[in-house]
Amino acid sequence: MSQKFVLPELGFSFGALEPAIDAQTMEIHHGKHHAAYVNNLNAALENAPKFFMDPIEDVLRNFNDVPQEIRQAVINNGGGHANHSLFWKVLTPGGSNQPVGDVASELMDVFGTFENFVEKFSKAAATRFGSGWAWLVLNGQKKLEVYSTANQDSPHMQGHIPVLGLDVWEHAYYLRYQNRRPDYVKAFWSVVNWDKVDQFYQENK
Ligand code: MN
Repeated sequence: MSQKFVLPELGFSFGALEPAIDAQTMEIHHGKHHAAYVNNLNAALENAPKFFMDPIEDVLRNFNDVPQEIRQAVINNGGGHANHSLFWKVLTPGGSNQPVGDVASELMDVFGTFENFVEKFSKAAATRFGSGWAWLVLNGQKKLEVYSTANQDSPHMQGHIPVLGLDVWEHAYYLRYQNRRPDYVKAFWSVVNWDKVDQFYQENK
């Protein structure tokens, strides 16, 4: 019997992203929402403990191997765990607030300008109906691609590697922004840690 999945430390204080993302939202988002995904994932896998042995990203990539009766619970809660774990890392204060390194040059190659990339990503975030995520991923051809997913569906489920993600569930922004998701998306750009994005790009390209 191996270790269950655990809620990772946030790695910075709840108020560190003010004013873009408020402290109360961060506290609830990490301590309640992300924690619930981890707890529910562990509960779903109680009778299939061999899946505790793999990183959650690998479980999601091979989600067809998960027994059918718990598959949707693993997609929802395992996706929630993986998505939020990445989200906290790309929000870690202290890195470059502009693209740097290899990911910067690749963004220029694929999108022409940084502004064009921001526009495409922001549109994906704004137009995702209901709950979901906007992503910058390395796709199956190892090229950067922007899209959104519904609910907690993870890019890993289609063999893609997310390098930047934005949670557009209402729980991520409602306290400060209410219905104004575009304002939240705009503020997001001020708190992205591009050193982390470049690190994930370089580790997986
Ligand atoms: Mn969330």
